[in-house]
Amino acid sequence: MHDAGPLVTDSEEETAAAGERLAARVQPGQVVLLHGDLGAGKTAFVRGLARGLGAPADDVSSPTFTIIQEYRGRIPLYHVDLYRLQPAEVEELGLDEIVDSGGVVAIEWATRWRDPPGGAWVVRIDHDGEDRRRISIAGS
Ligand code: ADP
Ligand code: MG
Repeated sequence: MHDAGPLVTDSEEETAAAGERLAARVQPGQVVLLHGDLGAGKTAFVRGLARGLGAPADDVSSPTFTIIQEYRGRIPLYHVDLYRLQPAEVEELGLDEIVDSGGVVAIEWATRWRDPPGGAWVVRIDHDGEDRRRISIAGS
């Protein structure tokens, strides 16, 4: 969708809206890998993704302590935050099984998943000033 170039947003809501638009293209078993520093807007993007999938999105926050949070929309969304995990621990989460079950899996701090599936989409969010972010979405 945005392979043509990065998207610029100027608010949290605009970043969420970008996630919401992406939801229209998501199929069961899709993996969305999110990269970006703390505060980049990864969780905001996933909030929009949840909304776009018809899941209750207001309570979408970083699942730092739960590791995996499930939201029930037209396709189940699994929101994962790997921040506190080592790559070896990530292997034990069973992310591949969730993908095989047809869930959509959106992952913050995705570099800690050493071996994501080949068809995964990669969302990169970079700070570009106070409220400005540059978002690139590849593989979609
Ligand atoms: P992350 O999950 O990447 O750590 P969050 O989505 O939790 O980031 O937080 C992003 C923070 O940055 C929020 O406080 C949000 O209000 C703020 N913010 C400011 N501008 C933007 C923007 N353009 N897109 C997303 N978040 C923004
Ligand atoms: Mg987050």
